[in-house]
Amino acid sequence: MIHDSDPSSVCCLEQFRQPLAVTPPALCALQNGILENAGRAILVTDTAGRLVYFNPAAQRMLGYAWEEVVGRVTPLLFHLPDELAEKAHFLGVSGTADFSVLIAGLGPDCPAVEADWTYVRKDGSTVPVSLTISQMRDAAGAIQGYLAIASDISKRRKLEQDLRIAAIAFESQAAIMVTDAQQRILQVNDAFTRLTGYSAEEAIGRTPSLLKSGRQDAAFYAAMWRELNATGRWQGEIWNRRKNGESFPEWLTINRIRDASGQLTHYVSTFSDISDLKVAESEIHHLAFYDPLTAMPNRRLLLNRLEKACSASKRSGQYGALLIIDIDHFKTLNDTLGHAVGDRLLVEVASRLAGCIREGDTAARLGGDEFVVMLENLGQNAAAAGVKAEIVAENIRFALARPYLLSGDTEYFRSASIGISLFHEHDKTADVLLKQADIALYRAKDVGRNTIRFFDDAMQTALDERAALEAGLRRALARDEFLLYAQPLVDTESRVIGAEVLLRWQAAERGMVLPGDFIPLAEETGLIVPIGLWVLDQACAELRRWASDPQTARLYLAVNVSARQFRQPDFVMQVSDALARYEVDPGRLKLELTESLLLDNVEDVVEKMQALRRLGVRFSLDDFGTGFASLSYLKRFPFEQLKVDRSFIRDIMRNSDDAGIVRAIIAMGNTLRLNVVAEGVEDAEQHAYLARHGCTFFQGYLFGKPMPLADFRRMLSGNRDVLPPLAVGDQVS
Ligand code: C2E
Ligand code: MG
Ligand code: MG
Repeated sequence: MIHDSDPSSVCCLEQFRQPLAVTPPALCALQNGILENAGRAILVTDTAGRLVYFNPAAQRMLGYAWEEVVGRVTPLLFHLPDELAEKAHFLGVSGTADFSVLIAGLGPDCPAVEADWTYVRKDGSTVPVSLTISQMRDAAGAIQGYLAIASDISKRRKLEQDLRIAAIAFESQAAIMVTDAQQRILQVNDAFTRLTGYSAEEAIGRTPSLLKSGRQDAAFYAAMWRELNATGRWQGEIWNRRKNGESFPEWLTINRIRDASGQLTHYVSTFSDISDLKVAESEIHHLAFYDPLTAMPNRRLLLNRLEKACSASKRSGQYGALLIIDIDHFKTLNDTLGHAVGDRLLVEVASRLAGCIREGDTAARLGGDEFVVMLENLGQNAAAAGVKAEIVAENIRFALARPYLLSGDTEYFRSASIGISLFHEHDKTADVLLKQADIALYRAKDVGRNTIRFFDDAMQTALDERAALEAGLRRALARDEFLLYAQPLVDTESRVIGAEVLLRWQAAERGMVLPGDFIPLAEETGLIVPIGLWVLDQACAELRRWASDPQTARLYLAVNVSARQFRQPDFVMQVSDALARYEVDPGRLKLELTESLLLDNVEDVVEKMQALRRLGVRFSLDDFGTGFASLSYLKRFPFEQLKVDRSFIRDIMRNSDDAGIVRAIIAMGNTLRLNVVAEGVEDAEQHAYLARHGCTFFQGYLFGKPMPLADFRRMLSGNRDVLPPLAVGDQVS
């Protein structure tokens, strides 16, 4: 039974079975069974295309019940009118909704036609089918109807579509590289060749390391593989190298492909060149963080860096400083000469500021004529940091005061006011720091512009004090406020063999000032040069006096020479002039140098020392042990003596480390034929210990404190016992 609900279907089919009249009834029943149970949709029509049979598979596919379709014309029922029309047009068949389109081509030579069609279901949805239509003839060969077998090809269509998409995608803008599980390249697309310069032939069979730029380290690749292995996918930015050697940034996606059994089969990498993106990104960054006129960091970037600097300061304990710089009377210039000229001034200011700071510091423009300089790593001492910041501020003030050529040949002059606030260990927010520097700037403007002001009062006081000291120091020479003291040096028998001159400043406003309080400032400001010349002159004058007295004629006088003074190109000349001026025996003069001098420009130092040695002048290395110098390094320089720094001697009886260092210095000094002086010997115990370990020369309160030169002379002439029987030069080396 073909169809329970409609026995007529059987008779219809019977009719078609006529050509198979030879078929016995059993076989006929079998055929019916096959049709009924076939997986494919089977439809039978009469010659006009009216449906006479419709199997269950067809019902399932199309959603119609038998009684809804029987006797109806199939093209009208199941087909899209447009598709029929198109096909009819293509085949040159007339009558669009006509069944003839479906059976076009059938004939004596062609018993069946096959074509892809779109079936429309009862619910309006569509399904692509492959439709095979064959003629059904009776025994006489007359056409009785048509048999249509339709198979759902939506899966195949989908696959075809996917393949088409894949093929198009493969030839997309992005480079694609497919490797096997061992990472051998199997396939690349045109974009790959365009991007990397490697053709498919060159790439296939190689591994992706072909493209390695060397910019990523092993840790980067390790992390990439970890992620790829864990998640099956990695995405990120990477630098690769083209065939021509050029590196380029790319955005890379790698997917791991497994087969149905879970076995790793391929890696598919997709990447695109993001150089342009990077440029755009950096342009955007530039616009967002830099001032377009001066190309300096803007307020936003400054605040950003300031935050970072504050955090860094918290870690390092180092001070930093924020300087706000404002061009005095900028508005007047802008208003009178126009904005173009004003802009030129600002650009010039920016370039001068950049010249005043170290690498790592930031110069920014806040807007208008307000600039900010941020200094970092100013050391862990507040006062010293303040001094450093002030020196930079002074340099800036000086640099900005130079004439500006803004239009034509006319020179314009502008001064600047600067407000400074120090920062330390993230104790204030960036905004607060800026505000403080701003307050300091207003104070600077208040006191008449062209000045520097600190936010911190104590800092300001300290710096004012320093400024006053400097002013006093500048006047001291002219006012004849310097004095020389002398401190005796003795040998093992405590006989005086010479003296060291030590500078004193009898300042009108502040009384006696010790060198520790003014020499560093004199060095910084360069005042040490004229002061040093004065000391040298006075020391030679004293040696002249000594020469005429047999009690002192054979003593030597040591003069401290600071690095800045020694570096004067005509230093040798200055010394020989002073010696000549007073007709002094150069052998009586000893120059004390410190280790810091020996660090730079060694050739020049050695040359000058040798020139002076040739004159007869001798050298002593002062404060030995506090610096870097090893004794073997010292051999390059013609020293005759070294003085062990007072700090080691002070604790020699308490601190075994210090004692060990001193013993080693004495032993090595003796080996190198340098005579060793122990500085700052204050008591007999220290003296005895030093003498026991081979030290032969001593200086310190135990033998005499520094005293005015006249007192020193008086002391010697009054006490014959301490006079040396021999000149020191005869005793040593
Ligand atoms: P220095 O050359 O190492 O001088 C020795 C310092 O130690 C002197 O300090 C001296 O007064 C002090 N002193 C000596 N014996 C003792 C002692 O037993 N106990 C203690 N507590 N101190 C002792 P002063 O005079 O204050 O000089 C300090 C430094 O200033 C000198 O150290 C030297 O580096 C520098 N100086 C002094 N005069 C001059 C100068 O004319 N030119 C230059 N460039 N520097 C100078
Ligand atoms: Mg000295
Ligand atoms: Mg010393």
